[in-house]
Amino acid sequence: MRALSELDELYEEIILDHYRNPRNNRELDAPDLEIEADNPFCGDEIKIQLKFEDDRAAGVSVAGRGCAISQSSASLLAELSQGRTREEMKNSVTLVRRMMRGEELSDSELDDLGDLEALRGVRKYPVRIKCALLSWVALEDMLDDYPAARQQVSER
Ligand code: ZN
Repeated sequence: MRALSELDELYEEIILDHYRNPRNNRELDAPDLEIEADNPFCGDEIKIQLKFEDDRAAGVSVAGRGCAISQSSASLLAELSQGRTREEMKNSVTLVRRMMRGEELSDSELDDLGDLEALRGVRKYPVRIKCALLSWVALEDMLDDYPAARQQVSER
């Protein structure tokens, strides 16, 4: 068995937990947005559904199959996106990309990502980065396609 640092063990636990017990994977009734994506290099598949209420994600469903990295990343996305606005979700996508590029993130940026930090170690394995980013790239595409007319302007 290879030696793992305590942090790596913690990260691995989070990843395996989300892989075995994916969060929010029940399909939504009448979602506002839906997208399917796959990563042919690894055979990963995911489907994301979002339902908005007052510009916030009131319902998030992410289901799929594939490797532990792709599926745990998708489950973490589902957990993180709940209750968030479109802009907040897009911001998370940017942070995840930056983390995968090995950029240093500030404490508040890391707070924003929460348990997603567990995927940080993946960047050491370039072929796995596509697995980790699959659901995030799909989320970004989906949000970019969200018709502007349906967005509600909220003053916060
Ligand atoms: Zn994969």
